[in-house]
Amino acid sequence: MTARVLIVDDIPTNVRLLEARLSAEYYDVVTASSGREALAICDQQDIDIVLLDVMMPEMDGFEVCQQLKGNPKTQHLPVLMITALDQASDRVRGLEVGADDFLTKPVDDVQLMARVKSLVRLKSLTDELRARAMTGQQIAIEDALRAMDKINTTGGAILVIDTDERHAERIKSYLTPEHDVDILTNPADAVFQVTGAQYELALVSMSLSDFDPLRVCSQMRTLEHTRNLPIILIADDADKPKVVRALDLGVNDFISRPVERNELAARVRTQIRRQRYALELRQSVNNTMALAVTDDMTGLYNRRYFDRHLGVMLGKAQELKRDMALMILDIDHFKSVNDSHGHDIGDAVLKEFSVRLKRNIRGVDLACRFGGEEFVVLMPDIDIRQAEAVAERVRQSISDRGFEVGSARPLSVTVSAGVALNESAADTPESLIKRADVALYRAKREGRNRVVFDAA
Ligand code: GH3
Ligand code: MG
Ligand code: MG
Repeated sequence: MTARVLIVDDIPTNVRLLEARLSAEYYDVVTASSGREALAICDQQDIDIVLLDVMMPEMDGFEVCQQLKGNPKTQHLPVLMITALDQASDRVRGLEVGADDFLTKPVDDVQLMARVKSLVRLKSLTDELRARAMTGQQIAIEDALRAMDKINTTGGAILVIDTDERHAERIKSYLTPEHDVDILTNPADAVFQVTGAQYELALVSMSLSDFDPLRVCSQMRTLEHTRNLPIILIADDADKPKVVRALDLGVNDFISRPVERNELAARVRTQIRRQRYALELRQSVNNTMALAVTDDMTGLYNRRYFDRHLGVMLGKAQELKRDMALMILDIDHFKSVNDSHGHDIGDAVLKEFSVRLKRNIRGVDLACRFGGEEFVVLMPDIDIRQAEAVAERVRQSISDRGFEVGSARPLSVTVSAGVALNESAADTPESLIKRADVALYRAKREGRNRVVFDAA
């Protein structure tokens, strides 16, 4: 996975050094020698990740980072800060202004590549989610951005996995009471423990006795329920080669022993923020998709969804040589409901009609509002007799009992339906709809409140 990396440093030698390393790994490199230049580049170009020196004249790295994170256009750019001193306070300050990660000078090659790789992966994931939200509705992404500002990072549900209980207790003491921390000393139970609960982060020690920490991580990455759970490894310097493999497995971050309290707190906060943000984005994408495919008034699928889905279902039925039925329903004399009782009562009838319709079709059948007072039901894996039974049941469920929709007396409503089955490989979505429509027309002509099958 390649990416465009912006290197920001006021010292040309430093820039060239990093540039050489990253270019050797086929990253596309852009450079800037001041904060101001960096901000301009980020505003104008498509940058995937920013490597940012902290100590620069005029505008230092903290300030640049704060401005990037404060601008909606560049808010999502991952920022990797490079601090000259191995000072916890610098790192904490960096993470607090929104930096996604940091490295200390002299920059270690393994660390550099691991961090860049992990941030690029994160960037492509959020880009994808953002794009999906975008294609759905602008509103959803705006909601998500607003939600991003509001995300708090306290009260995280954290699981510490370590066979050394004293170690685990120390980590726990660093993180409470800000977070809720559980300890698991038997790594073999990790998957069960995590599956049963709603953890937001796992801290996994690399020194587990008789157990491979990478196995714990890969298991969590494989299972549906834990695939997106952030994992931070707690590693000794000697574990470094393994840490690199772990990052490739999808582990999100690591922290070196001896664990420094503030650094741990900041890394934990960053992961929890990302996790909550991703969840927020996913939900907004889901909401957007739901909005895009359902009919507001009835909650049934809409025409747009139906048109797309019919093609898919018909293709499948033809491929598997199974029968599928398409039913079009049209409420009888609906115009007179509106005329005598008003539009609101008309709407209430449509809603009640949808409830009854849904209740009387099979679970696998797909009901949609086709438009106005017309509905369609797609019935996969069905023969003509079963289709007849379903259609009859729907028709009776409408006519049997009056509609209590706020009018003086229950309204009597009836519906006419036309049904067509896919019968030849030559059937297309259009021809199927056409045949069902012709049958519906006959049902109306023959007196309404009836089901007619297409006589193909
Ligand atoms: P037929 O038995 O031949 O189907 O007669 P009809 O009156 O049902 O048919 P027509 O197509 O003439 O009238 C349909 C009416 O449905 C006209 C339109 O105002 C009404 N309608 C369409 N959509 C809505 C809606 O969302 N709410 C309400 N209240 N009425 C609607
Ligand atoms: Mg009509
Ligand atoms: Mg009608």
